[in-house]
Amino acid sequence: MEWETVVGLETHVELNTKTKIFCGCTTAFGGEPNTHCCPVCTGMPGTLPVLNRKVVEYAIRTGVALGGSISPITRFDRKNYFYPDLPKAYQISQLYLPICVGGGVTIETDAGEKTIGIHEMHMEEDAGKLIHQDGRTLIDYNRCGVPLLEIVTEPDFRRADEVIAYLEQLKSMLEYLGVSDCKMQEGSLRCDVNLSVRPVGSETLGTRTEMKNLSSFRAIARAVEVEARRQIALLEQGGTVEQETRRWDEEQNCSYAMRSKETAKDYRYFPDPDLPALHIRREEVEQARAQLPELAPAKRRRYQEEYGLSAYDAEMLTMSRSFAAYFEQVVAFDAPPKAAANWMLGEVLRDRKEAAQPTEDIPLSPKHLAALIECVAEGKINRNTASEVFSAVFHSDEDPIAYIRTHGLEQISDEDAIARVVAQVLEENPQSVSDWRSGKQKAFGFLVGQTMRKLGGKGNPQLVRQLLENQLN
Ligand code: ADP
Ligand code: MG
Ligand code: ZN
Repeated sequence: MEWETVVGLETHVELNTKTKIFCGCTTAFGGEPNTHCCPVCTGMPGTLPVLNRKVVEYAIRTGVALGGSISPITRFDRKNYFYPDLPKAYQISQLYLPICVGGGVTIETDAGEKTIGIHEMHMEEDAGKLIHQDGRTLIDYNRCGVPLLEIVTEPDFRRADEVIAYLEQLKSMLEYLGVSDCKMQEGSLRCDVNLSVRPVGSETLGTRTEMKNLSSFRAIARAVEVEARRQIALLEQGGTVEQETRRWDEEQNCSYAMRSKETAKDYRYFPDPDLPALHIRREEVEQARAQLPELAPAKRRRYQEEYGLSAYDAEMLTMSRSFAAYFEQVVAFDAPPKAAANWMLGEVLRDRKEAAQPTEDIPLSPKHLAALIECVAEGKINRNTASEVFSAVFHSDEDPIAYIRTHGLEQISDEDAIARVVAQVLEENPQSVSDWRSGKQKAFGFLVGQTMRKLGGKGNPQLVRQLLENQLN
């Protein structure tokens, strides 16, 4: 029998607000354990939550970008469970009236475009962190109360590569919106994989498992494949899939059952009486819609259509909002887009990689990169010299034009001067000249190199080649 894999994702995104969702504590990652805490986020009796309005603003922005509909009335619910990472013994979340329902994310895979439906998106608070150490368990409540968005898809994925394409798209969107850092290694983007299988052609969904502890895109892709195979093998042997929560073990490359799946009933959800219903005005939603930035897919299209860049260049330039913004500023200073792209994807990326610095931190100002590009276009310096100038000014952001002047790097385009040097080179290298006469093309390159060297690397390359040819002939 042929089987089809069906996957739905629940993605938790930590918002990068300065303070927590219901108190004024910092959301900063790390810090000494239990130093980013107060009576509210540690669940002391008698305290009351006060909703952080930035969280609502970020949720509206994200919901609008997902193409969902923002609920005019939204409310918080208590999800009750007893576990030491949750000092109140309930998590403030949303079940009955989430802030956003519907929407979708369009992904591109080798098989073409596809839209993954969004079921709903809601706001909630993060729990603390348990640290298992030397047979004891320690608790750090710094993360308790950090605002989260949970984005739940329809069971629309059929393959691991669709899941990864969706997550990449979502991550880029959240980064462009400025609502989250999406650092998987710091846990600010976490993802649970719900997966079932069914015979190809079947319309009904199979029994699903939910997988947790997936800490990288690679782990997610592998988990989807391994879990699908496990379920198919079970069913083909006449067994059944248990609806359960499983934990992915990155090292063993397999998952194991953690607990049978809870349902909403197990959590005894009820509306949180401490938090009033929230009325969201239409104008607020429309304003968020009007202020949405241009996102990566639209930029990629525009870079290809407006600037004539390749799909690859457009993809690379839009990898982060600030990298794309830098590119657009260089172009705004009149640099030809293709040249700007080449410099950014060549020298700039190389330097950032070698310096182990984020690609977003570019010390050279867009204006100065544009000026350097212009110097090459005008023939003031040749491309090799430009690379040298780039290395010299990149970290200090010195004006490249001033640097070229003070270091006497202007390209030599004086025909007489070059002709004199060429004559000298031919005289000093009779062997190469006769090699060239007997048809050895390599000798020409050597003579070009010698001439360039005598010109201190500053010769106009076209002119050097042309004058060499003239004199050889
Ligand atoms: P719960 O709230 O109990 O986690 P939901 O019905 O909200 O369950 O679904 C959670 C996620 O699981 C959603 O992304 C949904 O698309 C996905 N899902 C639900 N049923 C299945 C199934 N049979 N196979 C695969 N994914 C499923
Ligand atoms: Mg769930
Ligand atoms: Zn607090």
